[in-house]
Formats: sequence, C-alpha cells, structure tokens
Amino acid sequence: MGVGATGIRVSTTYRPDMGLDETSSSAAGRWLPVSNPFGVHALVWTGGWSPEEAEHAISSTAAAGYDLIEIPALDPSRIDIADTRDRLAAHGLRTSLTLGLTFANDINSEDLELVAAGRSTLMSALDITRGVGGEYLGGVIFGAMDKYPGPTSAAARANSVAVIKELAQEAAGDGITIGLEFVNRYESNLLNTVQETLDYMDLVGEDNVVVHADAYHMNIEEDGFREPLMRCGDRLGYVHIGESNRGYLGAGTIDFEEVFGALVDMDYRGVITFESFSSAVVDPNMSNTLAIWRNLWSDGMDLATHALDYMNTEMDRARDTIGTR
Ligand code: MN
Repeated sequence: MGVGATGIRVSTTYRPDMGLDETSSSAAGRWLPVSNPFGVHALVWTGGWSPEEAEHAISSTAAAGYDLIEIPALDPSRIDIADTRDRLAAHGLRTSLTLGLTFANDINSEDLELVAAGRSTLMSALDITRGVGGEYLGGVIFGAMDKYPGPTSAAARANSVAVIKELAQEAAGDGITIGLEFVNRYESNLLNTVQETLDYMDLVGEDNVVVHADAYHMNIEEDGFREPLMRCGDRLGYVHIGESNRGYLGAGTIDFEEVFGALVDMDYRGVITFESFSSAVVDPNMSNTLAIWRNLWSDGMDLATHALDYMNTEMDRARDTIGTR
C-alpha cells in the first residue's frame, strides 16, 4: 500500500486536472499517465521551523508546484502543530514527517533506556504527524541515523522491531503509513538495503509499514536500481530522489533513467520527494549528521523548480518508453 496510491485504475477514467500527455501511451488496457504526488524536503527552503520559516517553506513549496512538503521532525518539540496544520491547509499542501533517531534515543540498541527514549520520540513524532494532518511518518526511525562503531546485534534488532510494530499499530488507527528509509552504511548498521528492509518488515508484520527507498543511498549500497525497486512490489510506499552529491538532479552520477523506468514499470503511484542539501541552508540537528559541508546551491526556488521539471520529464520519458514496447 503506497502513500497516496490513488492512481486511476481503469483506462477509461480521466482526471481533468492531470492533463493528458499527447506523447504518452494511453492505449486501451494500459494505465493512463497519472502524475505521482511530488514532494520536496523542507531543507531546500529552511533549516528551522518558526512560524516565519514554516510559512516560507510551505508557500515556496506550493509556488514551485509541488503537492507535498516533507517536514523533518528530528526535534518534535520545535513544531507548532496548529500553526503548521493551518499553513498547510491555507496552501493546499499534503505533508509527510521524517526523522532519524540518534545514539541518545536509539531503538536499535540493547540498552532498554535508550530504546524507551526512542519509543517516546517516535510516539511524539506520530502525534505531530496526526496533528498536522500528515499521512506518513518515516525516515531512519528504526535506529540511530549515525555511523555505528560495529554491527548490530540480534537483541538490538529485536528491540527495534518491537517498537516499530507498536508505532505502526498506533499509526494504523489514523490511517498513517510508517516508512523505513534504509540508508547507507555510514548512517545505519541495521537497514542498508531493500532486502534487509523487506526482511525486517516481515518481522514487524504490520500492513501499514512500507519501504522508503532513496536513490542516494541505493546508489551506495545496491547493485543497481531497477531490480531492487521492483523486488519491493507494492511494499514500496515512499521514494526519495536525491543526486549522488545531494545537489541538482542530473549533476551527479545516478542513473535516473533506470530509477524512474523501474518506478513506471512497477506502476508505483506513491509519493516521490526531492531531497537535496547544501551548506547554504542548515539544520544543526541534521546537516552535520548528513555531512553537508559544501555549498552545492543557494537558490532553493531554482533548485526545486528544476527538480520538479526533471522528475516529470523522466517519468514522461519512462512512460513513453514502456508504452511503445
Ligand atoms: Mn532520504
């Protein structure tokens, strides 16, 4: 079950607001081209979440043409729930919340105090997600987003699974999806690949838990993009599109034709969120953890509009390719 996976399921149905792309295949029996919901990470706009910063991020996201803003919730206490909810509604935006745990609140640990602290953080983040009208809570929520000094253990993994299971059961009551963003080896020792994430999800055993795939991380850990993405099937529920250098799409080495080709081929209809980081916009909680030292861009609007155009172009190209073979 993907987030917002409300694609058109019969070829005779047409949603007026999406527009038909004349170059796309819409032959009987094939899906009509439907735009996935596109999101952008708030760090493209601002590193904080004061009312002024929230307004800047939310209004800019809408002005750039996105459907959704992804709000980082590493520090849930800094988010004014009512204020954020009202601003999202005023601009007609959907939202998702993401965070990474730390070594101080790590549920991927044998230390039950740390596990309890992490559980508390996640439940607070779920309260915020619910409160702002979010539909998705994800990220590196299964453990610390940091470089571990060694591999995980069976006991630490079991603690993580138990908390995520409880979180998912809590979230299900509000129709909120829980996403596991597997990340590169320098940011987790638990989930680095699609397969590890699928195996972990089997242990959790809750329907509202999905794979959150990030091209940046897959580029480091997977053999490629197409096969692992397609292996997820309908368990893929959220996608991050980020370049190999975290900057402008197309300016790095990631094979986005393969990435978007797989998403179209597997009929993925969920959220696709653009993620990029520069030293020009800093969240102390996050930028240092992600090792954002260089200034790759300074104009968030130029970056975000370029990315949305890039993603739409790649999706259209993939639909054309698949429609003609
Ligand atoms: Mn990501």
